[in-house]
Amino acid sequence: MAAFESRAEAIRCLGALLGEGARAGSWIGDRIVPGEGDEITLVDPATGAPILAYADAGGAVAARAAAVAARGFLAWAALTPAARGRALWAWGERVAVAAEPLARLEAAASGKPLRDTRREVSAVADMLRYWAGWADKWEGRVVPVPTTHHVTVRHEPYGVILAITPWNAPLFTAGWNVAPILAAGNACLLKPSELSPLTSLAFAKLALEAGVPEGVVTVVPGFGTTTGAALLAAREVAQVVFVGSPEAGASVGAAAAARGIPALLELGGKSANIVFADADLDRAAVGAQAAIFAGCGQSCVAGSRLLVERSIAERFLEAVASGASLIRLGPPLDEATEMGPIANARQHAKVTAMLADGLAEGARLACGGAAPSGLPEGGFWLAPTILTDVAPVMRIAQEEVFGPVLAVLPFETEEEAVALANGTRFGLAGAVWTRDVGRAHRVAAGLKAGTVWVNGYRTIHVSVPFGGFGASGIGRSSGREALAAYTRTKAVWVETAADPPSVFGHRPPATG
Ligand code: NAD
Repeated sequence: MAAFESRAEAIRCLGALLGEGARAGSWIGDRIVPGEGDEITLVDPATGAPILAYADAGGAVAARAAAVAARGFLAWAALTPAARGRALWAWGERVAVAAEPLARLEAAASGKPLRDTRREVSAVADMLRYWAGWADKWEGRVVPVPTTHHVTVRHEPYGVILAITPWNAPLFTAGWNVAPILAAGNACLLKPSELSPLTSLAFAKLALEAGVPEGVVTVVPGFGTTTGAALLAAREVAQVVFVGSPEAGASVGAAAAARGIPALLELGGKSANIVFADADLDRAAVGAQAAIFAGCGQSCVAGSRLLVERSIAERFLEAVASGASLIRLGPPLDEATEMGPIANARQHAKVTAMLADGLAEGARLACGGAAPSGLPEGGFWLAPTILTDVAPVMRIAQEEVFGPVLAVLPFETEEEAVALANGTRFGLAGAVWTRDVGRAHRVAAGLKAGTVWVNGYRTIHVSVPFGGFGASGIGRSSGREALAAYTRTKAVWVETAADPPSVFGHRPPATG
């Protein structure tokens, strides 16, 4: 079982990144500050063995962090936009240099295969370099008003923005959110999931080493209902971006509304992957596996509903299932592993309960459904699982599983496919596989989702707006839309007339 011993690797990488003997806590200023709340134990998802324990930050630490973030904002605002861009670029370079320990720490602690975490770390370095370029390019404008005024519109940062992130891709999601927040001129208070704080702490230390001033990136790990709520209530916080479940998102959105601050919500999905009979079926079969089984299905954009034209449904399903059964499950740190375990016990329990529900409601297993043999018993394993005979009304067809479970639904016509795809409360993403270019455009336009792929799946990039329709969220956290979201406009009216007209008031006596 040596291949499964992630604990030692996690401790070694944490030491390499944060300093020998480093413990988890909050990253405030230039150091780790221990939490004051309940103990949280991080568990190796591959074995169920503990990795390390740390304390929930709690209200007092959250308040201190918010005050330091506010000072960080002033230091960040004192730099020129070009200097902020250089610091972001330097941070990206630091991440690239530290890529291997970051990727190994993420894999060891999250159960995600090393080949995935390496890609994610490399993407984070690129995100910082991408947003570095925007730091001095978010220009205002002059509005040609019908008066004698010169009106400029400035884009001003909010100040301190709170980013709350989930556990499924901790460093990737931190980079995705923090980089545009900083590029827009704000400081960021980052609250990672209580279940996955480690790489976010290392990420913040790298920012400081790269020349980002103290307090600009502050990381406060802990529970949502204690530390998250305290941060959300801090008067220094001027906006929140939340990435997580629709239920917690609704509560965060309500708390933000009560305070009168904006909330950008990136929530879950139940995305439809639609395959027409005229598609390149070999490519579509590979795409369907990647859509749901990458990241063990723990991806907000997971193609968890496979809609297949009935005439090809049986043979297409066979192709997807035979491919799925070849996916290599194994130790996260093994180079050959393609899929790891579910990331935590809570999620494992949720996925297996939803699977049992689906079977009880009449769905049938085409493959998977249990932990494969030969893997540690305490780990949170589930083989790639495909369910057929799924009816659109079933919970397994309506609600997000966030695990390696695919629901297959047949359709007869294009109209039926679009109606089925749009038949849940979610609208994060979707895909259509066809060789008919007109149909590709029609279906893409018909889907109620923030992202649609044609003959592909899963690619996203910070340069492209990303976000949801319906219960999948509000706002866009990438592309230039993110800069618009993370700044507010200020209109400055300058009177240019020598003797401006006035509708009211009396001139003072001449002063000579
Ligand atoms: P979650 O909603 O349980 O937790 C997300 C974060 O919110 C955590 O940091 C948690 O501590 C915090 N939180 C929870 N309740 C809170 C509260 N009342 N106040 C403040 N903070 C609170 O979600 P999860 O289980 O960590 O992640 C899985 C979910 O995230 C899935 O629904 C998935 O689709 C979604 N997700 C969405 C995206 C996206 O970009 N749309 C990306 C990744 C994951």
